[in-house]
Amino acid sequence: MTEKTIFKRIIDGEIPADVVFEDEHCLAFRDVNPQAPTHVLVIPKKEIASLDAVADEDAPLMGHLHRVIRDLARTLKLEEGYRVVVNCGPNGGQTVDHLHFHLLGGRPLSWPPG
Ligand code: 5GP
Repeated sequence: MTEKTIFKRIIDGEIPADVVFEDEHCLAFRDVNPQAPTHVLVIPKKEIASLDAVADEDAPLMGHLHRVIRDLARTLKLEEGYRVVVNCGPNGGQTVDHLHFHLLGGRPLSWPPG
């Protein structure tokens, strides 16, 4: 059996997180190492290793996650704008092998990313 990811352990309540939203399909919590005044991670409860591992039948779930992100941005008062980032694979800078969307805001964000 492969070891649980840190995010699966958060989903299972084994380690604490500063949860800002939860429903039956997803969980959103503050990043432990924030890169902006608001930095939230939105993750599916379904174990999907990365964006590359998303299956065609996950399309409704992906749509749901984006709706949650849109609503969270409003709840967290990111009316000046925000960025949603998915790091995928080693070159993409992914460090946790459980699909996650970074929701960043609260300051101007430069472009391009590093
Ligand atoms: P990645 O680099 O894979 O795109 O993003 C992983 C993110 O997870 C990083 O921003 C990192 O700070 C965050 N992270 C890693 N471990 C934990 C944890 O135990 N709790 C929380 N809240 N965030 C974590």
